[in-house]
Amino acid sequence: MPNRQIVLDRLPNADRLAADHFALNVAEIPTPGAGEVLLKTRYISLDAANRAWMQGATYRSALNAGQVMAGGGLSEVVQSNVEHLKPGDLVFADAGWQEYAVLPGRGLQALPDLKPETHLLSVYGIAGLTAYFGLLKCGEPRPGETVVVSAAAGSVGSIVGQIAKIKGCRVVGIAGGEAKGRWLTDELGFDAAVDYKAPDFKRQLRAAVPDGIDVFFDNTGGDVFEACLFAMRNHGRIACCGAVSQYDGGPPPHGPRGVPGLIVTKRLNLRGFVVMDYAAENDQALADLQSWVADGRLKVKEDVIDGLENLPSALIGLLAGENLGKRMVRV
Ligand code: NAP
Repeated sequence: MPNRQIVLDRLPNADRLAADHFALNVAEIPTPGAGEVLLKTRYISLDAANRAWMQGATYRSALNAGQVMAGGGLSEVVQSNVEHLKPGDLVFADAGWQEYAVLPGRGLQALPDLKPETHLLSVYGIAGLTAYFGLLKCGEPRPGETVVVSAAAGSVGSIVGQIAKIKGCRVVGIAGGEAKGRWLTDELGFDAAVDYKAPDFKRQLRAAVPDGIDVFFDNTGGDVFEACLFAMRNHGRIACCGAVSQYDGGPPPHGPRGVPGLIVTKRLNLRGFVVMDYAAENDQALADLQSWVADGRLKVKEDVIDGLENLPSALIGLLAGENLGKRMVRV
């Protein structure tokens, strides 16, 4: 049986990502050696960071032209040469954009039997954990405070805002377009939404946070970050999660300007984080996320696209803001 793969045929460099940066390849299904497992991919997670990895080394090494496109996903063990995994187990694996992969069993663990299994990639996966740790550990929101989140209708942002509501905060989401804003307020219970693509974005933001921002969870960087910086209250906290406005080519970003002075005079605390930093506390985070989903306070939105061959367009679309909630491809 063949193993279909999507290869990163050439790097986009400063260009916008396009379908012709990728190519479909057909390879042999690999055979696992000692200590290895053969995995069959079920779902592949689409993440804004996939594009950032093409820019150079990040928290993982840079991607190279010609390699199978990197990406994490939900895979089923089909053959195992390790004690702790058996055929049928589901694992989260950095298996790349392909139908089958061989990986070392070390570092993989069987996931709990949860339904629907797609939640293992969304709310109980990297998106949910990033939202949880970034908000609670870096943002440290207190009841009654105003929390603003950018890329608010995306997978991380939509969960951040809902956790902030659970913690008793007033929540404002920044997202592109009125439809996303309505979804945030009408479906997810955000207190207000601001459209960063509207000509009067800064006026909308000022109106939505008349007393300023206590906690800003930043997924975008650039001009949105700059606008929020000016709206921060003294002693505010900024959780620096990502910079999606700067991942995919385009003109160089203007913002943020005036950063050092504002940080001093407003006594701001900016903290960058990577979700793995808090892995030792995953059990507590997952228990909290599960209880909030179970009691209906945390709604999970998934955007599932079918077909391995649709991975390139799914990523290009995510960077263009097509998605509501967690985007993934069913293989
Ligand atoms: P996502 O939020 O589901 O999708 C990306 C969203 O970004 C799009 O839906 C789009 O929505 C928005 N966007 C695109 N270009 C933009 C721009 N120029 N300005 C403002 N918004 C823009 O994607 P995700 O994978 O969950 O990633 C969200 C952020 O979390 C990224 O910055 C990512 O790097 C970060 N992240 C960090 C960690 C960590 O450990 N620190 C872990 C996971 C993810 P609009 O329609 O609103 O434009």
